[in-house]
Amino acid sequence: MKEATKCLHAGYSPENGEPRVVPIVQSTTYVYDSTAEVARLFDLEQAGFFYSRIGNPTVDAVEQKIAALEGGVGALCTSSGQAAVMLAALNLARAGDHIVSATNVYGGTFNLFNTIFRRFGIETTFVDQGATDEELAAAFRPNTRFVYGETIANPALSVLDIERFARLAHERGLPLLVDNTFATPILCRPFEFGADVVIHSTTKYMDGHAVQLGGVIVDSGNFDWRNGNFPEFTEPDASYHGLVYAEAFGRAAYITKARVQLMRDLGCCQSAQGAFYTNLGLETLPLRMQKHSENAEAAARWLEGQDKVEWVRYPRLTWDPYAKLAARYLPNGCSGVVSFSFRGGREAGARFIDALELISLETHVADIRTSVLHPATSTHRQLSDEQLTAAGITPGTVRLSVGLEAWDDIRADLQRGMDAA
Ligand code: PLP
Repeated sequence: MKEATKCLHAGYSPENGEPRVVPIVQSTTYVYDSTAEVARLFDLEQAGFFYSRIGNPTVDAVEQKIAALEGGVGALCTSSGQAAVMLAALNLARAGDHIVSATNVYGGTFNLFNTIFRRFGIETTFVDQGATDEELAAAFRPNTRFVYGETIANPALSVLDIERFARLAHERGLPLLVDNTFATPILCRPFEFGADVVIHSTTKYMDGHAVQLGGVIVDSGNFDWRNGNFPEFTEPDASYHGLVYAEAFGRAAYITKARVQLMRDLGCCQSAQGAFYTNLGLETLPLRMQKHSENAEAAARWLEGQDKVEWVRYPRLTWDPYAKLAARYLPNGCSGVVSFSFRGGREAGARFIDALELISLETHVADIRTSVLHPATSTHRQLSDEQLTAAGITPGTVRLSVGLEAWDDIRADLQRGMDAA
């Protein structure tokens, strides 16, 4: 099946007389006839559901759909994107271990790695993804467990050279984990370029309608966990009466361990209702990603013609620093997110936002409705102009998440804001 068909049909095939639409199985638990059968389920010798923290039929259908879209062997849905990043990392790193991560990652991921994980004894070295191979080599340590980056980083809009980062990781016997939230598997499938694990905040384009928080981890099944660097996959798990994941589950070892060990004990699962909403979003994902990308490109080109605008960042613009990487990894579009900066600084940004009528001011991206955020007057308002600049955000920076309205209407509202700025 092609992507558009998978979005509608993968993960759920009703039999004769069954519901056409994936049903919401609103049950925490499942009944069985014999203790022997329940024992086989608990021993993971038989597939089936026994408690919805570990698995639920509605959530399972969505997991299978997303795994099919990314080209992986399995997926695990989580309660949020943050939970997906946390579980994906903790499935590999424990106290005393180390991570190499791109600096250009979502602020929540940066904080998780930089603050919370340090409290757990897991260190992270953040690297400039544009650095040379030699410079990047210096970041690795004997206890490094994985390499991490975002296909299109939020909010930097940098594009990760996935093949290069996969090579740098694989040369050292390590996997590459890629957050593919902004691109979605419609615009980029990181496994095709060597990534080993993909993560999403499904809250963004996969849902797309701003109704449901969620996350997902997808396993490519391609990484060899028996290479000596991952004893948790090759030695018996005492918390699961001696299960050896790499032996028992082969190519699905990573995602099975994440589910039966970490999800079992940390519990940040997706609900059946939540998965149902995510599935509705997934059904129209290809159409939406195409239109988001078209409208965003039109907005980026319009913005770059405006005198009050100092710079525009969108990887489709020919002089964007990531245009070459975008041409390789994102040939069909770069999502709906554009950033730009006013010459008039903080005040111009505020006047622009306050004059908008159609476009809404929100702490969110990837909605079907166009939205904006002005970091200097909202998420980063406590910072001085100097501190903002050090964080890579100028006082006049605006993040625009272009939606699916008619371009003429978006442009008219941008013009209204521009006149006021
Ligand atoms: N990863 C990326 C790239 C994000 O943009 C976000 C949220 O904005 C997250 C992860 C965290 O996802 P959530 O908000 O669903 O917890």
